[in-house]
Amino acid sequence: MEEAQRIRQLPAYLFARIEKKIEKAKEEGVDVISLGIGDPDRPTPDHIIEKLCEQAHNPENHRYPSSVGMLSYRKAVAEYYGNRFNVELDPRTEVVSLLGSKEGIAHISFCYLDPGDVALIPDPGYPVYGIGALLAGGNPYIMPLKPENGFLPDLDAIPTDIAKKAKLMFVNYPNNPTGAIADDAFYHKLIAFAKEYDIIVCHDAAYQEIAFEGYRPPSFLEYPGAKDVGIEFGSCSKSYNMTGWRIGWAAGNARVIEALGRIKSNIDSGVFQAVQYAGIAALTGPQDCTKEMSEVYRERRDIVVDGLNSLGWNLEKPKATIYVWAPVPKGYTSISFAEYVFEKTGVVITPGNGYGEYGEGFFRIALTVEKERILEAIERIKQNIGKVEF
Ligand SMILES: *Cc1c(COP(=O)(O)O)cnc(C)c1O
Repeated sequence: MEEAQRIRQLPAYLFARIEKKIEKAKEEGVDVISLGIGDPDRPTPDHIIEKLCEQAHNPENHRYPSSVGMLSYRKAVAEYYGNRFNVELDPRTEVVSLLGSKEGIAHISFCYLDPGDVALIPDPGYPVYGIGALLAGGNPYIMPLKPENGFLPDLDAIPTDIAKKAKLMFVNYPNNPTGAIADDAFYHKLIAFAKEYDIIVCHDAAYQEIAFEGYRPPSFLEYPGAKDVGIEFGSCSKSYNMTGWRIGWAAGNARVIEALGRIKSNIDSGVFQAVQYAGIAALTGPQDCTKEMSEVYRERRDIVVDGLNSLGWNLEKPKATIYVWAPVPKGYTSISFAEYVFEKTGVVITPGNGYGEYGEGFFRIALTVEKERILEAIERIKQNIGKVEF
């Protein structure tokens, strides 16, 4: 049985070898500390769980939901944008519910890419952008995110013929995996660029509530003209520790939202309504939980960054996200350093090349284990790896 070309062209799974080593070490009784996975470790706040339990008992919620989401859920997203960003959204036409934002990020390419159409893809980046474009038959064009540019794409470096063929552009701030943030000037430039070349901007804002020391990530939709050129993908996953619940949204340009809803209505049947009620509770309820979680991640971030800096790194503390992105020492590749760290310490870090070729030479640490375990991980690195050079 031959698989379709679209499956065969998917990149090989890069971490297979490391994962085998982790499995084997666990079997041998090694106390593995995984800083590999970007999945919040703390539970979903109680008031959200309680709303789910209550609504799960209501038989009205046991039937097929609408594929674009209940109006009350879309109104809750609009209310959140009004309160948080001072952005006005029409919940009927400018918001669609998603089964987690990953689903919409993958499906948007099916709405806009014909064979040969270009999608502009940040590298390093969340793999779904490029894979969605490939599965839809499009051509991903890589926008390198380089440290010297603050991990922002250099829009002036995109060749004009590529920009003319591009239909979509993916942008993600606060950024996974680099932890970078984007300033106002970048968003103004992005919108002007998208207007000039008629490109739809897909802004992934998964980390818009996880930020430190008073920094408040903006929404792409706050900027003048944003709604003319694009949409924002949002999610309850990271903001409210709800990765397992599968609930997110896309918001912005009404034509794009309608197209995404049309694809979805032909493929899935929307989010379980009880989960949508829980999403409403998350978005319109008390927001203290996002601030408390940010404080938890900040404490963990400080332990990691201060620890690595004491060994020879020279990292700045990221202002947002649940990640620390760091270069590998001299003489290592991303993979060889991750393997070395694992063999010496039992600590799992993610090789940067898993996020694209421009991630080579870096690794990512996810701040998703308790402080005590982070302290233990850093202590093991200090004891068994020690000072490094670049
Ligand atoms: C975690 C994450 C998402 C969110 O995925 P969901 O499907 O909403 O759980 C989206 N984009 C990035 C970059 C992420 O890291």
